[in-house]
Amino acid sequence: MTSSALNNKYDSVEFPFCDEVTKYEKLTKIGQGTFGEVFKARHKRNRRVVALKKVLMENEKEGFPITALREIKILQLLRHENVVHLIEICRTKAYNRFKGSIFLVFEFCEHDLAGLLSNANVKFSLGEIKEVVKQLLNGLYYIHSNKILHRDMKAANILITKEGKLKLADFGLARAFSHAKPSQPNRYTNRVVTLWYRPPELLLGERNYGPPIDMWGAGCIMAEMWTRSPIMQGNTEQHQLTLISHLCGSISPEIWSGVDKLEFFSKLELPKGHKRKVKERLKAYVKDQIALDLIDKLLWLDPSNRINSDDALNHDFFWLDPLPCSLQKMLSLHTQSMFEFLAPPRRRIQQQAQHSAVPPRRSANLPQSHDQTFDRVF
Ligand code: ADP
Ligand code: MG
Repeated sequence: MTSSALNNKYDSVEFPFCDEVTKYEKLTKIGQGTFGEVFKARHKRNRRVVALKKVLMENEKEGFPITALREIKILQLLRHENVVHLIEICRTKAYNRFKGSIFLVFEFCEHDLAGLLSNANVKFSLGEIKEVVKQLLNGLYYIHSNKILHRDMKAANILITKEGKLKLADFGLARAFSHAKPSQPNRYTNRVVTLWYRPPELLLGERNYGPPIDMWGAGCIMAEMWTRSPIMQGNTEQHQLTLISHLCGSISPEIWSGVDKLEFFSKLELPKGHKRKVKERLKAYVKDQIALDLIDKLLWLDPSNRINSDDALNHDFFWLDPLPCSLQKMLSLHTQSMFEFLAPPRRRIQQQAQHSAVPPRRSANLPQSHDQTFDRVF
């Protein structure tokens, strides 16, 4: 090994033992973003249909990208029915750290929740909504128990198979967390989670965050099951905090102890005198009182009092009639996977990407009928 190679901290990342990607035949491109392309593909011998996510190497001077490495390490650790399964890693023939590509091979899921919600023909019954939210919380319970934060919750990163099994996907921003000791607080980057699903603690500059950040995202997604559009579509961090204050009430140390210690508390303008109106404003969409109660607990401003996945799964919402029920029949009415259409990227993805904490990441090819502007919810 040369000395320059020794100096490169990612040098040990080579993939000599993985198979060549040519064992799969590419069928269609299903996603394209700054962080990589996603293809539907089929194993040439056993005919298994998979999703191939190409690791983009173009802007990498340092060798294999650390974000992809993190995603692989995390996915290899996780094994759960509500987390997308990483089958293997493949490479192009002449892969080394300077040329060739690496592909993450996933089980294929026919739908993503963003696509289903933007298709007006797809109608969820209350039991089916309960099933979606239950599986989402099950996935979060599992990853949080394994000390992993997803950090990029949004409907586009929630996949659903044609059998109605929900899978958390896109662990590109995920990371392991530890419970901070008061003497050494964690200092994670604060630039995570798409703006519209970003919780108030991140917007206010908290760096010692934890599982509640994903629970906020789950609350936004749960409400979106009824509103069919993201509930708070801010254009800037300031705007997002304003929308949050209008819905969840003014942010102050009285309702959130210690919030005044956060970096941006005094730097940003926080609307004063607003009452909490989560239930009141969502009830036009969400007719079920118990559902409103759970959304209210997920969209709790103070992260230390926000409901966790365990308590959320024990909420009456999942245990009173109608009970969660299989999605399979409803999805069979929509046999055409969204990926079988070829259309320009949806506006929503572009909008969302624009305001994302990270560069635009994807624009799946989706049916023309999905190519719509987002309705404002409030
Ligand atoms: P990105 O970092 O580009 O957002 P994702 O992992 O979210 O990467 O993949 C981009 C898109 O590709 C997803 O939103 C989804 O539409 C599609 N996709 C990803 N994984 C799968 C899969 N296993 N099955 C089907 N589609 C997938
Ligand atoms: Mg994604």
